Amino acid sequence: MLSADFGHLDRDTRMIHESAAEWIHIDVMDGVFVPNISFGFPVMKPIRRASDKFLDVHLMIVEPEKYLKRFAEAGADLITFHYEATDDPRGAIRIIKECGKKAGISIKPATPVSVLEPLLEELDLVLIMSVEPGFGGQSFIPASRDKVRQLRRMIDEHALPVMIEIDGGVSAANAGDLFADGCDALVAGSAVFGAPDPQAEIVRMLEAKPSDR
Ligand code: ZN
Repeated sequence: MLSADFGHLDRDTRMIHESAAEWIHIDVMDGVFVPNISFGFPVMKPIRRASDKFLDVHLMIVEPEKYLKRFAEAGADLITFHYEATDDPRGAIRIIKECGKKAGISIKPATPVSVLEPLLEELDLVLIMSVEPGFGGQSFIPASRDKVRQLRRMIDEHALPVMIEIDGGVSAANAGDLFADGCDALVAGSAVFGAPDPQAEIVRMLEAKPSDR
């Protein structure tokens, strides 16, 4: 939703609600963890009201543990925080689980996937950032595909049900490659909202998904 028109948030949420998209991805930025500010609870609530789709909340904020409960109360189904934003990722996962929500961790482009290996068992999802977090509209960092493949191997070796999501520079042009690398969920902002027909762009991305995922 970062690429939506916030002056027409109801309209844009309805468009996504009526589309083939399975989840609604919400980017929360605090101006500290990333050099940009997006929105917080007051904007999340109307999105929650306008759609009962799975709400995928991506926190790009420092000290996420302070706010996890409020995001759960605001209607998040999955809360993803950044590995780099906390000293106690295990504690943050525990809070999310206590709220009855699914827990995800995201890593920035410079953070190796190996740091997540000890945490995988407790996670529902890992979000690989394929651009520097903070702004929409950036180009995909090609090395992100290696990270996805490495993470896929790690998850499969441990036979864990952890999903892989990728965020940044994703469109119908690279969706097939990303699903083939092992992604389960693709986040697209500008590729969807900037498309002449956003709903058709979503369908094109989903058509690249293999039937066994
Ligand atoms: Zn995101």
